[in-house]
Amino acid sequence: MGGTDPETATGGADTASGGQVNHPPLQSPLGIALLGLGKYARERLAPALQLTNHCRLKGIVTGTPSKVAMWQTDFGIESQHVYSYDNFATIADNPDIHVVYVVTPNHVHAQFAIAAARAKKHVWLEKPMAMTAEECQSIIDACNENGVKLAIGYRLQHEPNTQTVIGYASSKPYGAISEVLSHSGFSGFGASDANVWRLKKAPGGGALWDMGVYTINSARYASGEEPVRVLNARQWTERPDLFNEVDEWTEFELEFPSGMIAHCRTSFGENLDRLMVTCASGSYELSPMQAYTGVKGQTSDGVQLNQTIANQQAKQMDDDALSLIEGRPMLVPGEEGLRDVRIVQAIQRCVTTGAPVDIG
Ligand code: NAD
Repeated sequence: MGGTDPETATGGADTASGGQVNHPPLQSPLGIALLGLGKYARERLAPALQLTNHCRLKGIVTGTPSKVAMWQTDFGIESQHVYSYDNFATIADNPDIHVVYVVTPNHVHAQFAIAAARAKKHVWLEKPMAMTAEECQSIIDACNENGVKLAIGYRLQHEPNTQTVIGYASSKPYGAISEVLSHSGFSGFGASDANVWRLKKAPGGGALWDMGVYTINSARYASGEEPVRVLNARQWTERPDLFNEVDEWTEFELEFPSGMIAHCRTSFGENLDRLMVTCASGSYELSPMQAYTGVKGQTSDGVQLNQTIANQQAKQMDDDALSLIEGRPMLVPGEEGLRDVRIVQAIQRCVTTGAPVDIG
């Protein structure tokens, strides 16, 4: 789980395995460049960066020149910090940018994360980490080889009520965990969305890749265990005209070493947002469990899980910036993204074969 990053850097001087010590100590606030200026970057990350204590939105990297003026005006980005995909490698010469946050469609996560690492910038990378476990491993390797750190944008692991549930997985206040139910999805796609990348196979679309990684990640953090087997999995659509390349629903069950089972469902056709943990002598849940705001829940004996924070993404980015500045492991390192992608691939094999699949 989070915090298992093997890197042992201190004071921002990275000594990751295979990496060289080539960064001066980092000081707050760090300069962040967003790469990929779509909806999540524009509507969530850029506004959240205005709320952080340890980050500044310093740069942008885009393939769409027409977006540049608006971003410069809205966020005060100076021209020397604006990059295109073509000249992105020259960001290596910019000492004011410490982190590149990759927020593109999934099929180009690996390409841009590796390029950022080669430019000796720390890498923050959106979920799902990449399209295959091999791609994920090459991102981790590139970061290690270039002495930079890697964090995956799993914002929920930074959220306080989620952190309480993660803590319960070790303290087990209600005894052994027997079952996890994890449901995550949203509806809203219509005929006008036929060409959006989330409904296309090649860029990594589909409910499983998009929202399913929350069900997988939460089943893992709620149990504190790593699943060993996909017991069963099925995918379907109720709108084959729209979902002709990717899944509208995926349902699957994961088996864990203790015998615990996670019952998981993800969807682009149904609003789903619940994490329920059943234990020997009680239970607890978060509902919503993956919303941008208001994650909350309760336990079977009435403990309210209702801490509030101003902004999830600001908390995530400040946590990650402080980890870099103080030389601590990243809370959600690349290995977290790799594990989830490996499980997605096992689920896909299970769908295809109709038989249980061991997760390597
Ligand atoms: P989007 O389609 O709104 O934006 C994607 C951006 O990438 C656009 O600016 C687009 O021009 C650019 N782009 C498209 N194809 C490209 C290519 N081939 N090469 C480079 N750039 C390309 O998508 P989004 O909703 O902003 O999602 C982007 C990423 O963020 C995805 O990986 C998604 O899973 C993730 N995301 C995470 C959360 C979260 O809560 N953590 C929420 C939403 C999205």
